[in-house]
Amino acid sequence: MNKLDVLKKYFGYSEFREGQETLIDGILAGRDVLGIMPTGAGKSICYQVPALLFPGITLVISPLISLMKDQVQALNQAGVHAAYINSSLSEAQISKALRLAAGGQYKIIYVAPERLETYEFLSFARQAEISMLTVDEAHCISQWGQDFRPSYLKIVQFMKQLERRPVVSAFTATATEAVKEDIICVLGLREPDVLVTGFDRKNLYFAVDTPKKKDSYVINYIKEHAAESGIVYCATRKNVDMLYEKLCAEGIPAARYHAGLTGEERKQGQEDFIFDTRPVMVATNAFGMGIDKSNVRYVLHYNMPQSLENYYQEAGRAGRDGGKAECILLYSAQDVMINRFLMDNREQNGEYTEEEAEALRERDEERLKKMTYYCMTTHCLREYILRYFGEKEAVNCGNCRNCLREYEKVDVTETVKSILSCVREVRQRYGINVIAGMLAGDDRAKLREYGMFSYRSYGILKPMREGEIKQLINQMVVEGLLFVTNDKYAILKITERAEKMSENDERVIFEKPKEEPKAEKTISGQKKAAGTRRSDILNSRGLELFEQLRELRTEIAKEENLPPYIIFADKTLVDMCVRVPFDKKDMLKVTGVGENKFNRYGERFLHTIMEYTGGVREKFYFGEE
Ligand code: ADP
Ligand code: ZN
Repeated sequence: MNKLDVLKKYFGYSEFREGQETLIDGILAGRDVLGIMPTGAGKSICYQVPALLFPGITLVISPLISLMKDQVQALNQAGVHAAYINSSLSEAQISKALRLAAGGQYKIIYVAPERLETYEFLSFARQAEISMLTVDEAHCISQWGQDFRPSYLKIVQFMKQLERRPVVSAFTATATEAVKEDIICVLGLREPDVLVTGFDRKNLYFAVDTPKKKDSYVINYIKEHAAESGIVYCATRKNVDMLYEKLCAEGIPAARYHAGLTGEERKQGQEDFIFDTRPVMVATNAFGMGIDKSNVRYVLHYNMPQSLENYYQEAGRAGRDGGKAECILLYSAQDVMINRFLMDNREQNGEYTEEEAEALRERDEERLKKMTYYCMTTHCLREYILRYFGEKEAVNCGNCRNCLREYEKVDVTETVKSILSCVREVRQRYGINVIAGMLAGDDRAKLREYGMFSYRSYGILKPMREGEIKQLINQMVVEGLLFVTNDKYAILKITERAEKMSENDERVIFEKPKEEPKAEKTISGQKKAAGTRRSDILNSRGLELFEQLRELRTEIAKEENLPPYIIFADKTLVDMCVRVPFDKKDMLKVTGVGENKFNRYGERFLHTIMEYTGGVREKFYFGEE
């Protein structure tokens, strides 16, 4: 068998995605590799395919117990013999697994880093034929990353004790240069093939919205997407509980997850979500690491996260199956305050000198700022994200709210001048609240205390409301006319660019979103433009068939006690509706249907399709043949 046969037979895919082939070729040629790819890009295939072609065993080091279980279940479904060894098993179970492993039962073994130094595991590993060592979430070895795990350093010790050094492959979604170098150096990769694929996730639609009532927005959205699975992230436990109660009261099948719940409650919530008994998850950012649910169709952020790193990771949990999905951030000015509060009250682990702590705080403040600008920009959101992560290519993606929206150009020169002269007049010593309040002529005690009433700029923009002025100031920041200092005072300063502009007497033109027509204001209005739902692909008969296939999948999932998406991804079911297979040969052409899965479930799905169509092929989708 060659790599393509393996891909089709076990995983049911007929071609590799970007980057996969390069890494697989490197591994098969016996070279170390480092793959840096965004979540959902398909890292697992990169080591699972060679693992099946190598003569010996592949050990996969992974930090996350839930992820291991998920991967092993999926592999077993695909007909690959795999096992995991971690603290969720009893000593007796571990011994048994290692005995079977020594007897050549498994091609792939997932193992937690702590296990590597145990006597039992080491003696197994020293005798077994180990072809490859794969380090998943490899950034955990770097002290620069946010997820440093000291136990990852054990991997190096472990490798030294093996009779023969296996090929080493490492994978991560963290792309910074420092982390990359750390991984190569600390893991001791030997002249590795390093591959960094683009961070763009084309199937994700991005939007920022500023609804007055976030709760009703979320409820409406979820109702419009009934029967789809999604995650709503909140900044605090309190928000999670509050929103969870509201959703339940609306009869929405929601689960919740945050660090304040008991272990049992968390486990239950997670399982309800994964098994689609409660397809909507309301959670803090404690939820998601190691959650591999592939059919998440939307990720809403009830609050703005602290950084784009966090945001992209959380939003990226949508659409892992490659199908269309939506990432919508609900922004309000309060979110900045919540985040600053959370940052100031974060537990310090006492390891930092005052200087280091200050540097970290500045870094966090900078990240928060960039996150905030994301919420304000009128340019392409995808481009903003990609630039932030160091990809410079200009896109105008056509699949984000800003690209799909219409804008009108507004001349704001005079207002901008007033704002700049106000900032100058107070000698660049105040933040947005004071400046906006002052320009609006607000009668606040604080302004009186600062003696603001005596300035020339006081009340100069008076007919405008403070909120409007703030919005304009924010836009000036985003456009580089003002900047905000990184200390906790967040003071507004004038940039060189603004000085030049004033000197040259340039006009300032900003883009302002046109009011959307009422009917189009709902998400589904935008969806039509974005084409992001399976109802855009399948016609009504097709959707009906999809529902029947989905019911069958749920039934099988219950019988097998497996999450539905491990049986077949949504995308696979949609492809069945498009191709309408009547026999094994056609069914094997469906994406995600491999030999083994066909043998397990193929006939039942064929049967449902046969019954629905009566054996007459019709077209169940929109668009061209
Ligand atoms: P990552 O670990 O990079 O976040 P995964 O390995 O979990 O991503 O893969 C994400 C999804 O993409 C999975 O559902 C996987 O089956 C699917 N996938 C991977 N490679 C391919 C491929 N070549 N063709 C189609 N789907 C793929
Ligand atoms: Zn765009």
